[in-house]
Amino acid sequence: MAEAKEVEEYLRRGEALRTSETQQRARMRGMKFDTRAVHGMYGLEALQQNNGSIIEPLFLSSAQAFENSAHLETALAYRIPAWTYSRYANPTVYYLEETLALLEGYGFDGELTACAKASSMAAIVMATQPFLSLEGGAAGKAMNFVTSAQIYGGAFTLFSRRYGEERGVEVRWVRNPLDLDEWASRIDPETRFVYAEMPSNPTLAVCDIPALTGLACQHGIPLIVDSTVATPALLRPIQLGADIVVHSLSKSIGISGFSIAGALLARRGLSSRVGPEELRQDFALHVKRLPFRDFGPGLSPFNALMLLNDLRWLRVRMDSLSRSAAKIAEFLQAHPQVEQVYYPGLATFPGHALARRLMWLADGEGEYGRPVNRYGHLLSFTVNGGAERAKRTLDRLQLILRAADLGRIKSLATIPAISTHQQQGEAGRSLGGVPPHLIRLNVGGEHVDDLIADLDQALR
Ligand SMILES: *Cc1c(COP(=O)(O)O)cnc(C)c1O
Repeated sequence: MAEAKEVEEYLRRGEALRTSETQQRARMRGMKFDTRAVHGMYGLEALQQNNGSIIEPLFLSSAQAFENSAHLETALAYRIPAWTYSRYANPTVYYLEETLALLEGYGFDGELTACAKASSMAAIVMATQPFLSLEGGAAGKAMNFVTSAQIYGGAFTLFSRRYGEERGVEVRWVRNPLDLDEWASRIDPETRFVYAEMPSNPTLAVCDIPALTGLACQHGIPLIVDSTVATPALLRPIQLGADIVVHSLSKSIGISGFSIAGALLARRGLSSRVGPEELRQDFALHVKRLPFRDFGPGLSPFNALMLLNDLRWLRVRMDSLSRSAAKIAEFLQAHPQVEQVYYPGLATFPGHALARRLMWLADGEGEYGRPVNRYGHLLSFTVNGGAERAKRTLDRLQLILRAADLGRIKSLATIPAISTHQQQGEAGRSLGGVPPHLIRLNVGGEHVDDLIADLDQALR
């Protein structure tokens, strides 16, 4: 059928816009990590469209106006690039999504797509929920998924209460994510996906992403990894074989602490036992067009701009903060009042060898003349004398702030058992390996000597 003349014109304009986007993406894909972080998709064409503004503009408008019904109809049929309505798309959010995709895709040959959300919990729901569909599953059989028990408290209760108790999905926990046999023994024909954090919050557990990829592949199901703690500056799970990555942008990526946000990024072409073909072809795009639109956890464009601004320095920051954290981990390990330190960079930490194999500073060879491992700025430790002693230590901190937060430019500490991991209950914490006297420490940008002095006086 011949298209109406007007529709043809919009299709032609849309095609030109797509071509220019493809060119900018290709140009950036020839650049280093920091260059991608600084410019992203905001190239010469975007400058022209935005009065030469050197910084990405903030589009607070709720919606886009169309020139006529042909323009409206073509856009709403997803036939041309358009943003339409800010719940599902927005130009400022788009710049953030594209920059994230360029960073997560650093060193990866294939294509990937990003979808930003109002929080990382929203991103985790959107990354997992499409696989918990009845469509395509075996009738009368309970579906299940396999997940590490060592995960963020919010993800733990989403899985155990919302999916498990309220919706009857069987949650199969893996106690020791380093044990591949434990993972393998949990997967069966009704398993919908495999989920892990690398490294985990708050116990910094690591997992073998390439080996888990192999397992998931063998069963035709996706591997989903939350790598909030590492950020793309230190770990890029999709390059290692994972299908979907989740980030809490609220944390190290948005280090200033001005916004709550999350994102999921997915490779094009993944395996799934359920869902439509579009889900397999381009999961993040499918989510954006349908489930995300319907569930509605849209990201505020203002927050997207705050995040874009922080994102430009990600690699340099993660390098410097990781070096401080490594010094503090060594200090704590040698301290007589400290029982145990959880940090993937410590040679004595279980999984250190694996972390050393997988966690590298992007472009580290540029500064250091050889590739360098970096392990992030989150660590945890237990103190002698149990939970009461841990609370006393926390209460005596004078520079380090007491807060249930991480990834921040200011150093923060908390006791997960009474804060971030309180709601999952004692049995849940025991399953997830979160002891009552564990202190979680986010190492910020203060001078490391001042941080060590504060910890030392608090521990004495
Ligand atoms: C904080 C955190 C989340 C949740 O992030 P929000 O943006 O607050 O929803 C998810 N995963 C990990 C590992 C986290 O640390």
